[in-house]
Amino acid sequence: MTTSERSPQSESESGSEFLTASAEETRALARRLAPTLRPGDVVLLVGELGAGKTTFVQGLAEGLGLDPQRVSSPTFVLIQEYAEEGAVPLYHVDAYRVRDPRELVEVGLEEYFERPGVTVIEWGDKVRERVPPDAIEVRFEVLEGDRRRIRIRRLQRPT
Ligand code: ADP
Ligand code: MG
Repeated sequence: MTTSERSPQSESESGSEFLTASAEETRALARRLAPTLRPGDVVLLVGELGAGKTTFVQGLAEGLGLDPQRVSSPTFVLIQEYAEEGAVPLYHVDAYRVRDPRELVEVGLEEYFERPGVTVIEWGDKVRERVPPDAIEVRFEVLEGDRRRIRIRRLQRPT
């Protein structure tokens, strides 16, 4: 078992920090986060191209009981829905091409927050003002080689 699967490298008010050394370790981290999520939760993924955001979504999908192989970056559609019998639905948004957060309002993003699933948003920093205040933020930092520093925190505790 690797360090990242065991416990965070550090924990503080500002969240937990993990180091992963492969895509599989990043998926494993997301798999462990998944059961702590509740319908209506919104997860913002922040990090450069190739940082591991879609890889993380694959782990989330698996952790929610969905087939991770269905997860890819939604290139032409803004929002992809994954739903299967007995699993928590996952709404996967890629805001890469979004220039104005209002574009997401137009496609009904906010309605997803009321639905019985978890919403995960790649390039989530672009839509921060349009998501619930207690959204979970996952920040990816690319280190050398396949290493990534991943910080997870809830932006504001639910009241
Ligand atoms: P993004 O969605 O952020 O653009 P992807 O998840 O599509 O990134 O791609 C990340 C790429 O980096 C994949 O090819 C993956 O295999 C590779 N990779 C290497 N190391 C890691 C790691 N520690 N965590 C996540 N992905 C990694
Ligand atoms: Mg991606």
